[in-house]
Amino acid sequence: MVSPLALGFGVIMLVAMSDDDGGGGGGDFELSAGSLRVGKGYVPAQYAGLIEKAAADCDAGLPAAVLAAQIKQESGFDPNAQSWEYKKDPKTGKMVKWRPLAKGIAQFIDGTWASSGIDGNGDGKKDVWDPEDAIPSQGLMMCKLLKTAKKHPEYNGSPIELALAGYNAGWGRVEQYKGVPPRSFAEGQTYDYVKIIMANVANLTAPDTSGDPEVSGGWGLPVKAPLGTPYHQQGGMWSSGYHTGIDFEVSVGTTIHAIGPGKVVAAGPGGAYGNQVVIRHSDGMYSQYAHMSKVKVSVGDTVRGGTVIGLSGATGNVSGPHLHMEVRTGPDYGTDINPLPYMRKKGIDI
Ligand SMILES: [Zn+2]
Repeated sequence: MVSPLALGFGVIMLVAMSDDDGGGGGGDFELSAGSLRVGKGYVPAQYAGLIEKAAADCDAGLPAAVLAAQIKQESGFDPNAQSWEYKKDPKTGKMVKWRPLAKGIAQFIDGTWASSGIDGNGDGKKDVWDPEDAIPSQGLMMCKLLKTAKKHPEYNGSPIELALAGYNAGWGRVEQYKGVPPRSFAEGQTYDYVKIIMANVANLTAPDTSGDPEVSGGWGLPVKAPLGTPYHQQGGMWSSGYHTGIDFEVSVGTTIHAIGPGKVVAAGPGGAYGNQVVIRHSDGMYSQYAHMSKVKVSVGDTVRGGTVIGLSGATGNVSGPHLHMEVRTGPDYGTDINPLPYMRKKGIDI
């Protein structure tokens, strides 16, 4: 377990959890509460609304599932979670419990809570142990970090990954490493923190039940073509400073297929992306297809894996025809993740 701004103290941290039932609530079945998957093993029902509001209050595109995955990692949804700083007893040489470190469901340390904690429920006191204060404070802090991260497209990592790293280790560390700190920093705590949370986002996102249940085609490649520029390649031609997706080398007019079942949430001109399609998949993740010459679906359409969504092209900011594809945690630019592990997990041979 790790905590906001707690790293770099040069001391060992251990979390003493008061219980580990994940905060209870939910039951054995899944309930859908907006964008989060609620229930046992997912997001406890009593916190889902707070988390979704904290995400919605951020105008920088902060997915609720990111906050939820973060809380799961910080405290296991335990509002009484307490971590301690340990230090070496000079007499015995043993590590002994020294002083309280991170507190509550979002694991704030005192200094960070003093500067970033808010009275979320307006009851007149700012209480780190109260999820109604701690979760809005976490959301606000993540929102600020996300905005800062978006100003640093040259850093290594998506804005959400950078914000998570900043929450964990302090933004100064992100600046120092110009990205998510590497495995060598703090025994990999920040590196792992970001990886684990990003891996949990899809799991904590509500499945989309709005589509036709009969339409549940399998997963597959958008086009059969060689791969071009890989994910995260650095370069000045991208506004983000790095390549936010993967490229398939296809000429103009090649049919593009949805990689999996879902619902079309964007279809049409998308600025530098040219003509684009964005699909929300049944697991809550998104795929995006850019630079199309022709778009063949409309917002609200239900698609399955393999549905033709358009033709490849060279619209938008391109040096030549290709299909640019992204996998995202949210519908918008800046929420990209590496598409390859996601697609492979879905059984796509890539
Ligand atoms: Zn591309």
